[in-house]
Amino acid sequence: MYYKDNTLVFLNGEWLPASEANASLYSQTMHYGNGVFEGIRAYKNELGFNVFKAHEHYQRLLYSAQLMHIDLPYSVEELVSITYELLDRNNLTDAYIRPLVYLGANMSLEPVDEVNVFICAWKWEKYLGTQPVKAKISSYQRIHPAAQHVEAKVVGHYTNSILATTEAKKTGYDEAILLDHDGYVSEGSGANIFIEKNGELFTPSRGNILPGITRSTVIELSRDLGIRVTEKPISKSQLLDADTAFFTGTAAEIAPIGSVDKTIYPLQWEDSLGYNLYQMYRQKVLFNDLQNQTII
Ligand code: PMP
Repeated sequence: MYYKDNTLVFLNGEWLPASEANASLYSQTMHYGNGVFEGIRAYKNELGFNVFKAHEHYQRLLYSAQLMHIDLPYSVEELVSITYELLDRNNLTDAYIRPLVYLGANMSLEPVDEVNVFICAWKWEKYLGTQPVKAKISSYQRIHPAAQHVEAKVVGHYTNSILATTEAKKTGYDEAILLDHDGYVSEGSGANIFIEKNGELFTPSRGNILPGITRSTVIELSRDLGIRVTEKPISKSQLLDADTAFFTGTAAEIAPIGSVDKTIYPLQWEDSLGYNLYQMYRQKVLFNDLQNQTII
């Protein structure tokens, strides 16, 4: 699913067939989860393709690495250009791109000198699909910001997300919504959340979330459309009392939430602000990064 016989990946400055790229089983990332990654999407457009917010994603990768004491040997510009080359080499236009920074063999709990950069891409449908999601408030709390750098996209953080998603799926739901340590809504397992109430949008403030690039895009688009959007703590009862809600994320894009636990939202997706924002988002992703577009 992720690669074919002729798929090429980028690994530490080389272009290799995906089946020949490999890593040490003694990697600190494998044992302790210390590594950082990104999830980026490219969209086919009239001129070729656009890697949406490529710079912002690689800035976040560098920021995540810095917080984890990992020295990345590439600049944002270099990583952006490698990503365009990756898609060109694989003849991909609509694609999901996964950069992973993983560490060398080391069983200690100290920073590791060997830093590896792997970037691959594949075609991936909209994560969470297009139908309204049945969400469950997770019994797992989002990572406490005093325990981990919650604003960094760290490999190990995703065990929290996997537990929450697995619990949701095992109990008949599609996706989890995690609360923070104070009981306020934080985010989904791999996406931010917005609620709509009386024609306005609300989204949890920063502090207990991964501040998503899609979240910022939706805030910008809302302001362009004259929709009031407020970043603030959202309680569980405010979540349940909303007219509707949606997730935002690179993989999920803008995904409608139809219900939370037993509460079904009264507003139809097609009548919601999220739906309008999604139409605008689909346009924006095509033309954000004009100067970097590849002509094919
Ligand atoms: N929260 C979490 C935990 C995520 O994994 C993601 C996906 N990167 C997001 C939010 C959304 O971030 P973005 O919009 O930058 O993809």
